[in-house]
Amino acid sequence: MPLEIHLPALGETLSVTYHHTPSRSVQARSNGSGELVVSGCVSDRMEVKKGLRRWLVRQARASLVPWLEELSVLARMPYGAVSVRGQRTRWASCSSRGDINLNYKLLFLSSDLVRYILNHELCHTIHLNHSRSFWKTLASIEPDYRIFNSQVKRGMEEVPEWARD
Ligand SMILES: [Zn+2]
Repeated sequence: MPLEIHLPALGETLSVTYHHTPSRSVQARSNGSGELVVSGCVSDRMEVKKGLRRWLVRQARASLVPWLEELSVLARMPYGAVSVRGQRTRWASCSSRGDINLNYKLLFLSSDLVRYILNHELCHTIHLNHSRSFWKTLASIEPDYRIFNSQVKRGMEEVPEWARD
């Protein structure tokens, strides 16, 4: 289990400490000064993974949702609801109603790539496909979209094993 967690999207690295307590589950809490305290039945690898993933989802909600909101205002592309999950293969998705779903694993990508993915989904609120018009709209806010789009495919390799499904 990790002794250090690097979240490039947020430019943060946390050192992890484990504390065994008589509990059937595992809780992870960051103390705000670069330390993540993991406590509970920390000898159970599955429970540690679950506890760390719940923490990642909370981190993603607290950081990616306001980030999406900010980009949405900048691009003048409003969206519907936003949710955070741990999809196996997709970084994000946008429904026909303009609801955006984000993967907590985005936290392991560089901040440039995350911004690209958020802008990509915002453009799907206008074009629900990858048509010429979609790429044209995206190019107006992400001029280097081709480079980012090729990086996205290899992105899952950046996600540590314990954070995958
Ligand atoms: Zn797309």
